[in-house]
Amino acid sequence: MPELTVTDVNKTFNGTQVLHDINFTVHDGEFFTLLGPSGCGKSTTLSCIAGLDRPDTGTIALDDVVFFSGRHNSFVPPEGRNLGMVFQSYALWPHMSIADNLALPLSLRKVPKARRDELIDDALDKVDLLHLRGRYPHEMSGGQQQRVALARALVYSPRVLLLDEPLSNLDAKLREQARAWLKALQASVGITTIYVTHDQEEALAMSDRIAVMAKGRMVQIASPTEIYDRPAAREVAAFVGSCSFLDGRVVDAGDTYVELVDSGQIVHARGRFDVRTSDGVSVAVRPERVTITGADAPASPGVNRIRAHVRSSSYVGARYEYLLSVGDSQIAANCLSPTHHGDVDLLIDPDNVFLYPRHELAGV
Ligand code: ADP
Repeated sequence: MPELTVTDVNKTFNGTQVLHDINFTVHDGEFFTLLGPSGCGKSTTLSCIAGLDRPDTGTIALDDVVFFSGRHNSFVPPEGRNLGMVFQSYALWPHMSIADNLALPLSLRKVPKARRDELIDDALDKVDLLHLRGRYPHEMSGGQQQRVALARALVYSPRVLLLDEPLSNLDAKLREQARAWLKALQASVGITTIYVTHDQEEALAMSDRIAVMAKGRMVQIASPTEIYDRPAAREVAAFVGSCSFLDGRVVDAGDTYVELVDSGQIVHARGRFDVRTSDGVSVAVRPERVTITGADAPASPGVNRIRAHVRSSSYVGARYEYLLSVGDSQIAANCLSPTHHGDVDLLIDPDNVFLYPRHELAGV
C-alpha cells in the first residue's frame, strides 16, 4: 500500500522556526486535510512534500522512495516526485487552449504525441470539461478554470495530489458545490490527496482524516467526527466549530466533576481528561449542544443543569443564537425558539463537556 510519511520535519525561515516536529502518515487513497488558521504552517508542510521547500531536518517518503532525508542529506527535486499540485491561483497559460495547457506537463514528461490526446481527453472528461477542450482560459468561469487546473494535475497520473486552498477563489455557493464535486472525483479516481485549507467546514465535509495545525505544530490528527466531538486541545475546540469556555476547578478528578469559578455551580464531564483534583481547567461547550429550558422543566437524569441569564438573542435564519451569562462568564447556545428571556436553565449532556488545562489559555 503506498503511504506518504512525514517524520520529524522541522523548518526554519530566516531564523524563525515555522514547523516543529511534524509527523504524519497519509494512507493509500485517503483524503487527508491540513487545517488551521492562516500562518500555522500548512502551505509550508505541503511545499516540503512537493519539494518546493526543503526541510531542515526529518524524512519525507512515499512508500520506500525517500524524497528527503536530513540525516542522509538527500533531496529529490519536485519534478522527480511525480506529484500533482493545484494552487489557489490556477496558473493556467492564458495564450494556450485548455488542451494545450494540459499537453504541457505531458510533453515535459516526454509522453509520446500519439498518447497525449487520449490522456488529455480522459482528464478533461473526469472534470466534465471535455466539450470545452478548445477554449482559452479567459473564455471560462472561475469554477471551470479551477477544474482545468485539476485536470492538468491529474493528466499525468501523479501518485499523490496536493491541493493548496484550491476552492478559495470561488464564491460561497460555488465553493459548496465544488466541494461535493471534488470529493466525489477524488473518491472515483481513488488518488491519495493532501488538501490544505483554513475553512473548517470544507475540511469536515471532504476529509477522511484531518490534521489540525497551530503555530507550526500538529495538534490533533483524527476523523472529522472525532475532531468535532472530541477535540484533543483547546485550539481544536476553538478553531473547529465554535465553543464557549468557562473557568473551572476540578473538585473530583475520578468522576470529573468541576466547579465553575464564577458561579460555584457543578458540571460533570464524562470524557477522559488528564486532570487532578483542584486543577484549574477551562470548561468548553459547543452552542448547539446546549439546551435552554425553563427553571423547573424536567431533564433526563445525569444531565448537567446550569442556572443562566439570557443576555441577547439574534436570529440567523436557521436558528436563534443566544448569549447567556453564567456568573460573570458568557456561554452561547443555539435554539429554534425565540421565546427565552431572563433566568433560565441550561441542560448539557456530560458527553458534550470538554476540559482543557487552564495553562493552554496562554497565547490562544
Ligand atoms: P499557512 O499555509 O498555514 O497560512 P504558511 O506555511 O504559508 O502558513 O506560513 C507559515 C509561516 O512561515 C508564516 O509565519 C509565514 O510568514 C512563514 N513563511 C512561509 N513561507 C516563507 C518564506 N518563503 N520565507 C519566510 N517566511 C515564510
